[in-house]
Amino acid sequence: MSYEKLPLQPFFDKIDELKPAFVERLRKAIAIPSVSGDESLRPKVVEMAHFLVDELTDLGFHDIQLKELGVQPPPVENKDLKLPPIVLGRYGNDKNKKTVLVYGHYDVQPALKEDGWSTDPFTMYHDTTKDILYGRGSTDDKGPVLGWLNVIQAHNELKWELPVNLVVCFEGMEESGSLGLDELIAAEAKNYFNGVDTVCISDNYWLGTTKPVLTYGLRGCNYYQVSIKGPGADLHSGIFGGIIAEPMTDLVKVLAQLVDGNGRILIPGIDDMVAPLTEKEDKLYDDIDFSVEELNAAAGSDTALHQDKKAILKHRWRYPSLSVHGIEGAFSGGGAKTVIPSKVIGKFSIRTVPNIESAKLDKLVIDYVNAKFAELGSPNSIKAELIHDGAYWVSNPFNEAFTAAAKATEDVWNIKPDFTREGGSIPITLSFEQLLGTDVLLLPMGRGDDGAHSINEKLNMSNYINGCKTLGGYLHYYGKA
Ligand SMILES: [Zn+2]
Repeated sequence: MSYEKLPLQPFFDKIDELKPAFVERLRKAIAIPSVSGDESLRPKVVEMAHFLVDELTDLGFHDIQLKELGVQPPPVENKDLKLPPIVLGRYGNDKNKKTVLVYGHYDVQPALKEDGWSTDPFTMYHDTTKDILYGRGSTDDKGPVLGWLNVIQAHNELKWELPVNLVVCFEGMEESGSLGLDELIAAEAKNYFNGVDTVCISDNYWLGTTKPVLTYGLRGCNYYQVSIKGPGADLHSGIFGGIIAEPMTDLVKVLAQLVDGNGRILIPGIDDMVAPLTEKEDKLYDDIDFSVEELNAAAGSDTALHQDKKAILKHRWRYPSLSVHGIEGAFSGGGAKTVIPSKVIGKFSIRTVPNIESAKLDKLVIDYVNAKFAELGSPNSIKAELIHDGAYWVSNPFNEAFTAAAKATEDVWNIKPDFTREGGSIPITLSFEQLLGTDVLLLPMGRGDDGAHSINEKLNMSNYINGCKTLGGYLHYYGKA
């Protein structure tokens, strides 16, 4: 892409100059163990919200609000446990400027030194030889959240005007299902979030470790179960084997007809709903930094179904997949138990992509399962049903927000970003898009090997510092677009 560069060098230099302050800010944030999944640490999650409020106040944000979300619904040990508040704040309120909402979360995954961390997870450790910052929340998502604050600090010190109005929305329950967030977004869509032009979320990762990415799609997931019921109780195969119809035999036959050994879904009609691949989209895959070896390394085996980079990524991101997950009620222990299970429930899910219609998919799946069962002529009974669904998301990687972020990335990293999707889902993305009616951009700061939910979570210093530059640069290019 050739484009007119904005004179952002003073801003980039200021970010470099403020590096010690930014590292200190991250150190303070990591030191607050804001684990949302641990009820006993809820006061720390709230403390983290107040830490952000203090920082936002110091930086000159206005209309700062802590939105209370009420009591956490069951299952909880403490029935009076309050959800952590959502932190809202504004920087700038100029009618002539575009308004960017940035989302991040200030809660973290649990972490204990005993889990295998090399250093205490809540004491930031700066490995100065590799220039890496270790600590729970460093990359997920405290680094990116503070990145936005760092951008504002740099502007304040430069006495530069921010080219857009910024609205921040930081939640404290992301690692525990984002309880209350959808309701808050819906309630504030026409209030606090009124006038928002676009949403930027920095809460995912580069595909690999060397090349920055912008993410424009996520797959959805429809999860099904098939219950097959026969005898009134579990039976002994020595007494009943060979003389009654066994539910497990039926279920295995049905499950075996869902997908073939090459990963091709055998249920007719699903492929017809998949959006055709355009030449423009296909080209996005050409330069992506990825290889079959990386897939095998991540899977810990040499079992890839596709040997070509583009085919692998397309099957991970833009084609549906069907996985069989388990059988409830089946004998699953060690040894040689001779039980005939009386009722078994098979579980499988389909990762969905544009333009699969969820309700139509459910009908195709359930009718197919029922038809395959009918072919068996079994006297047992079957019930196939959807138990959970979440929609896919895809944005236009050529829109204003993505184009602005691509320019900023190229300015900072001297390389064009890869345009990626993810095979899984980030439900809040869709919530923002649907409830606010705006585009969403996923602009990650960290690398694919940061270990977000794992031990020794880290953020490379270059990703933190260049990440701040990229977030700020994006606001400038978007403001001018
Ligand atoms: Zn996260």
